Amino acid sequence: MSQKLTSSFNVPSLYVHVPFCSHICSYCAFSKTANTGRIDAWLNTLEQEIRIAAPVYETDSTDSDKGESSDQRQPGLVPGRFFQTIYIGGGTPSALDEEQTARLLQLLEPFRPDESRLAQSDLPFEWTIEANPESLTAKKIRLWKKAGINRVSLGIQTFNDERLAQIGRYHTADESRKAVELLKAEGIENICADLMYGFPGESLEELDRDIDAFLELEIDHLSIYSLILEDGTLLARQISAEDIDGDLCAAMYERIEERLTKAGYVHYEVSSYARNGRYGLHNTLIWEDGRYAALGWGACGRDEKGLYDHARRFDDYLKDPSARIYEDDPNPSFDALMTGLRTIWGVDLDAWQKRYGIDFYGKYKAVLDRWKNDLIIENGRLGVSRQGMERLDSILVDFLDAE
Ligand code: SF4
Repeated sequence: MSQKLTSSFNVPSLYVHVPFCSHICSYCAFSKTANTGRIDAWLNTLEQEIRIAAPVYETDSTDSDKGESSDQRQPGLVPGRFFQTIYIGGGTPSALDEEQTARLLQLLEPFRPDESRLAQSDLPFEWTIEANPESLTAKKIRLWKKAGINRVSLGIQTFNDERLAQIGRYHTADESRKAVELLKAEGIENICADLMYGFPGESLEELDRDIDAFLELEIDHLSIYSLILEDGTLLARQISAEDIDGDLCAAMYERIEERLTKAGYVHYEVSSYARNGRYGLHNTLIWEDGRYAALGWGACGRDEKGLYDHARRFDDYLKDPSARIYEDDPNPSFDALMTGLRTIWGVDLDAWQKRYGIDFYGKYKAVLDRWKNDLIIENGRLGVSRQGMERLDSILVDFLDAE
């Protein structure tokens, strides 16, 4: 198994959700609103949340380095708190205009580490923002860079303009290419793109053309998703699940793996490929069962009490941004196994046993015996072999049944 990526900070990651989109895509089930007229009210509320939500989060381990006793420490999301990664997702963060972008970045500025904090970590600082090709401008990229953003995740999805129109995206393949050129010209080299597959009627040849177009862009990170018909979306009313061929989707997944690994990408997580060591650090730390703070309506976080969300309705968030709603999370120990096993790094069994107080080998002996040819335990980490990855769902069902 590859060497793990582990931050030394208790809460290494911060997720900030920008819930605005200039239009709504027909397949989307994320928390978002097309009411961009409320962005300024949202920014005011976010500012309040940063001020009043401070005591919610646990103390960062680096505070002990400053010689403070535990009762003197200021727990929480306070200025000066170090995060190994910050991820601004959405929604569409690039839907904010330049002035709104500058204000958001100014609010988040205190959470960016200084050089002395960075020197305490073996890992780099990663600050990602999601963007859509149609709302990218050179001025926004310059603001992002100046604030410390060093990675951009572009919502490309496909280079087929008819497919883009079918799923309600507002950009074209040409705009995607220009967006990548612009990012590179402005000095952002760490670019991630999404590739969607499994459109109704899509053939392997059509997928190949999409993969060719992605490879031509020389991007170091790809996230792949099959088209999912989520309940309540426009697309789910327009087409039926029977229009999507499950066997063909499985063949497409294989084709993507074959072509990307041949092109030098590491398939490091079920849906993620990277080359030149540009793994997505933010998600990797979360898959490692890391804790993450969350800001903004629609943002979910995880602390020692479990998974939490903000108020469900946007108006309720504006009234009380500090509300935290803990989700029913009956199996956090299983969740940690599930996310860890999706990656090439697997699960740190010692840390897992300590955190959840469970004897892993005793509890899962039957599962380990049954899948002994697919599960690997090496240097105290549990992982799955290449062929085991293909059976991961069945393996996970067995882990779940042993709960
Ligand atoms: S841009 Fe993203 S978040 Fe917004 S509607 Fe489309 S898929 Fe959903």
